[in-house]
Amino acid sequence: MRSLVWFRRDLRIADNSALHHAAKDSDSIIGLFIVTPRQWQQHDDAPAKVSFWMRNLQLLSADLEKLNVPLLIETCSTWDAVPKLVADLARKHQCQQLCFNREYEVNESRRDGATAERCQADGLVVNRYHDRIIVPPREIKTKDGRFYSVFTPYRKVWDTKALDQIKVLSKPKPLQPVKVKASPVPDSVDGFDFSDDRADLWVAGEKQAHKTLKKFADHVGGYDDWRDMPSVAGTSLLSPYLAAGVVSPRQCMAMAVKAGDGKIDASDGIRTWVSELTWRDFYTHVLVGFPRVSMHRPFKLKTEGVAWRYDKSDFKAWCQGQTGYPIVDAGMRQLNQTGWMHNRLRMVTAMFLTKNLLIDWRWGEKYFMEKLIDGDVAANNGGWQWSASTGTDAVPYFRIFSPFSQSKRFDSEGKFIRKLCPELKSVPSPALHDEKKLSVARKEHATGYPEFIVNYKDSRARALAAFKSP
Ligand SMILES: Cc1cc2nc3c(=O)[nH]c(=O)nc-3n(C[C@H](O)[C@H](O)[C@H](O)COP(=O)(O)OP(=O)(O)OC[C@H]3O[C@@H](n4cnc5c(N)ncnc54)[C@H](O)[C@@H]3O)c2cc1C
Repeated sequence: MRSLVWFRRDLRIADNSALHHAAKDSDSIIGLFIVTPRQWQQHDDAPAKVSFWMRNLQLLSADLEKLNVPLLIETCSTWDAVPKLVADLARKHQCQQLCFNREYEVNESRRDGATAERCQADGLVVNRYHDRIIVPPREIKTKDGRFYSVFTPYRKVWDTKALDQIKVLSKPKPLQPVKVKASPVPDSVDGFDFSDDRADLWVAGEKQAHKTLKKFADHVGGYDDWRDMPSVAGTSLLSPYLAAGVVSPRQCMAMAVKAGDGKIDASDGIRTWVSELTWRDFYTHVLVGFPRVSMHRPFKLKTEGVAWRYDKSDFKAWCQGQTGYPIVDAGMRQLNQTGWMHNRLRMVTAMFLTKNLLIDWRWGEKYFMEKLIDGDVAANNGGWQWSASTGTDAVPYFRIFSPFSQSKRFDSEGKFIRKLCPELKSVPSPALHDEKKLSVARKEHATGYPEFIVNYKDSRARALAAFKSP
């Protein structure tokens, strides 16, 4: 039998469910990836992310070639054209089976459903596999069959199921060669500017992903102590690889379990890191159970009444890292310069936008997607709705982070702030974490660093009032 394996955000050979199972059933395989520029633009996918996909495709295509699997790369504008394109290709290359890994977002599920229907009508066997997260999103339900909307009880059930899901699949062996030529991988995609993709920071490929995972395995035990400090590499930096599927979450769990001699709670560090993988699963579970969250609606419907501000000038200052609040600006500049932001700063900057500037979380959610190399609808939406107090399990609206206490706690020497905000180089550390001292230091050192965009106390009171009676 010949199979068509359709790659999407699972750009790897190792532990890839669709490829693994297709290889078991088939004599020969043809790979497929579809470039859909307009669709990606509609989804606000970042140029850095699309460029990362292309760079990974280069290496995937070379690895597949070693297995005698040619990777075809087709282009169509949006997903409407995908079902016909896939069915036509399968017919042209005499494939009897289509295999792919499930994607759980709303448009993605519709695209896959329509493609499966079209191919089945043509007589193809269609096999879809669970692969993207650790525990399938519908497998965890409350006693009365509902989706969880609170993390802690979800995690309790998740713990009982996760260890069964981490058997890493074997790499496929070479298949019979086929007389089909692999396509060249495009070095540009319409509408996406790759000139600033920071390929130096985010090296593509499974080899690199495993190098990153291995390096992190050596200090996962200290994750708990270091994960909130943006000036040190205390987190795994695996998110771009997980988002593009260059590494699988099962491989990540397997590393954690190995580091803990078979246990997922062998140390606080391991347990906390596994918790982050659980959050990743949880937000996909929420998206499947409550699809409105990915359609620009809050999880907490009563927060639909919050009178958000739509002030373009404040928003621009936030985007550019020019708010006058050092930790906020450092975070936004890290995003703009590297396509990635430390988790603590994602929370700080998101909370500042939605509370101190009272700007609609949907503006921030979109801006993050447009910039992040690891942009993922479920995690991004979950993070934004958490910070805006509109989501499942969100931070209570009255618990507003103070940017000064946050920077004092997590960047006390100002190492990270000074790296990203060189205007503050000669400002003494205490002034970076104190409103009054910073006002004085700004003048004394003639830093050129912007004035505060809002008065912290007033903006806090404004947010509390807006949330109290939405
Ligand atoms: C406002 C906001 C937006 C976010 N947007 C995204 C996004 O678009 N894509 C994304 O992958 N993560 C997002 N996150 C979650 C988190 O910030 C990143 O996953 C993390 O910073 C990635 O760095 P790391 O790989 O070193 O993470 P580690 O700390 O090493 O964690 C390991 C992995 O767990 C997952 N993870 C960690 N924290 C979370 C979380 N809170 N929610 C869901 N998954 C998590 C990621 O896949 C991460 O790579 C967002 C968080 C917030 C507050």
